[in-house]
Amino acid sequence: MHLYGTQSVNNLGHLTIGGVDTVDLANIYGTPLLVYDIALFRERAKAFKETFKKAGITAQVAYASKAFSSIAIYEVAKQLDLSLDVVSGGELYTAVAADFPRERIHFHGNNKSYSELQYAFDEKIGCIVVDNFLEIEWLKQISESRKEKMNVLLRVTPGVHASTHDYITTGQEDSKFGFDLKNGQADDAFLKLYNHPFLTVLGMHCHIGSQIFETDAFRFAAEVLMEKMVEWREKFKFVCPVLNLGGGFGIRYTAEDKPLQPAAYVEEMENVVLSMTRKHNYPLPEVWIEPGRSLVGDAGTTLYTTGSTKLVPGLRTYVAVDGGMSDNIRPALYGAKYTAVSANRMMDPHSDKVTIAGKCCESGDKLIEDTYLAEPVEGDLIAIFCTGAYTYAMASNYNRLAKPAIVFCEDGKHQLVVRRETYEDLVKLDIPLQQIESENVK
Ligand SMILES: *Cc1c(COP(=O)(O)O)cnc(C)c1O
Repeated sequence: MHLYGTQSVNNLGHLTIGGVDTVDLANIYGTPLLVYDIALFRERAKAFKETFKKAGITAQVAYASKAFSSIAIYEVAKQLDLSLDVVSGGELYTAVAADFPRERIHFHGNNKSYSELQYAFDEKIGCIVVDNFLEIEWLKQISESRKEKMNVLLRVTPGVHASTHDYITTGQEDSKFGFDLKNGQADDAFLKLYNHPFLTVLGMHCHIGSQIFETDAFRFAAEVLMEKMVEWREKFKFVCPVLNLGGGFGIRYTAEDKPLQPAAYVEEMENVVLSMTRKHNYPLPEVWIEPGRSLVGDAGTTLYTTGSTKLVPGLRTYVAVDGGMSDNIRPALYGAKYTAVSANRMMDPHSDKVTIAGKCCESGDKLIEDTYLAEPVEGDLIAIFCTGAYTYAMASNYNRLAKPAIVFCEDGKHQLVVRRETYEDLVKLDIPLQQIESENVK
């Protein structure tokens, strides 16, 4: 049994997170409940920042908040002096609601709307990561008509094939994201922006994918971008002040995953940047990174209560829980693997082989296939680990299930940061049928 961060087992045999008994949490807030170990989030953030300090590199560590966006997590990120990546007007709005320092907000996305870009100008955010030629035209229009400045980074695709699941690989050439480095698109984009009176090119950005374990992939991406920077200095006399190398650092979901410490990936990048700047006598740029999953992934644990169990003789035992693909679609969407424990009976031998099923009307709604728990009885509390990233953020109301509540735990204290949806919430956007005054209806 692998525990994460501050997790422990108390003398009642209950799982604790941040010094708080998970059985108590379930009693107070109900289930499904997403519990964050905030000390672990802080530790991860500090480790990233520390590695840059050690290397003598000025850096921004931006929390890629699409992994889990909420006012409270933005407030913690603010406390930690992190920067923030947003990918939509909605995430920007959430950041504004948290009063996140605007100069540390970076706006991403492959199809930002005109009004989203205007919103970014309204809020005077730190930087827009430009993804396509239409966006360049719009940014010119907006900045020229307002006579307002904006920093931009160019998102490029370095052509790195990191071995991870196809759906979450974004650095290769055939990608919907960014400008291709090899076919000249990136050069064209740069020249359209360079020396613009209101748009300031800070440099280059790449993000090669997600849940990546190979340091080679990060090293290669850093090399390819540094080479381009050197080329742009020769060709255009442009010295790049910022190099943004994205996120994607892998974490341990199950024993099969063997990640390095998240900060170790960053050290690899730093080594490339340091050695290549030395070799080419290039001024050391600021290095920005954008961890999402590796900041919040293993800090999150979902608590579920078990209901029915179904024995399929000779095959398997299904244990059904009170959530499922509605609060964690990752297993159904891309076969994501997790581990679980019987959180109310941690001392009991976890020797019953079961499949944890959700309650949604889809056969594929299984959270974990073939895992080991204490012999399940109705009303057990099950904890699924490592659910802090891309779970609540992707939650739906499928089957009109209410989205779970979210609690932060730290130093024996707990606080509700997102309340559970109610039935009223579920119909709040619905408009009852009006009398339709039409001939055709009769
Ligand atoms: C999603 C994303 C990230 C974060 O990826 P993780 O795998 O969660 O670390 C960083 N940068 C960009 C541009 C992204 O789209």
